[in-house]
Amino acid sequence: MTVVDRLNAAKDAISSRARDCGRDPAEITLVCVTKTFPAEAAVPLLEAGHRVYGENKVQEARAKWGELRQRFSGVELHLIGPLQSNKTREAVETFDVIESVDRPKIAEALAEEMRRQGKRLRLLVQVNTGAEPQKAGVLPHEADAFIAECREKHGLEIAGLMCVPPVGEQASPHFALLAEIAARNGLKELSMGMSSDYELAIQLGATHVRIGSAIMGERDYSKP
Ligand SMILES: *Cc1c(COP(=O)(O)O)cnc(C)c1O
Repeated sequence: MTVVDRLNAAKDAISSRARDCGRDPAEITLVCVTKTFPAEAAVPLLEAGHRVYGENKVQEARAKWGELRQRFSGVELHLIGPLQSNKTREAVETFDVIESVDRPKIAEALAEEMRRQGKRLRLLVQVNTGAEPQKAGVLPHEADAFIAECREKHGLEIAGLMCVPPVGEQASPHFALLAEIAARNGLKELSMGMSSDYELAIQLGATHVRIGSAIMGERDYSKP
């Protein structure tokens, strides 16, 4: 199977699971996660018409997508990894969507930088649904206050929420929790579900699924 075969298989799985749940497949966006893969690896997918991609590092995304964007128009790039405030300028230049807004300092820096660059990115708040100490994201019990602060203090429009459930745990309670926080805050977008659990996430309301290895193949972190 080629990457394009695997992309098509994932799209088919998304559509059929959506229909099984009585949802419109068009409500669900596949974010293809290309982190650790070189630019050439994305070319067949771009040639096949896929336009929405996710990267977890600002530097890597700039190096890879600067070139690819000159060859392919209409790319929508999502930052799905943590953002350091000293990288805000580059992040706003590079990405269309930031899925990892998770603390006041970043919210403030993004508001200021988007104003400076005259660019409005779509923003999602990352929630650390498993309250894991090493993981990015606002804690579930702090999410409402943080979303309110983004909106009221920093004038940010928040489109939705993102989560990465703890490894080795049942994902469904985490997806359900994210959906519940989104609903009570009037948020429409839910970025949840990865290669191993995106069908479950669709069942629980995902509007964005972030699929890496199931399309790109296994990642090799030993390469530079
Ligand atoms: C790497 C990554 C993914 C993709 O993971 P796969 O299991 O390879 O599909 C999704 N979301 C985030 C935040 C990631 O860092």
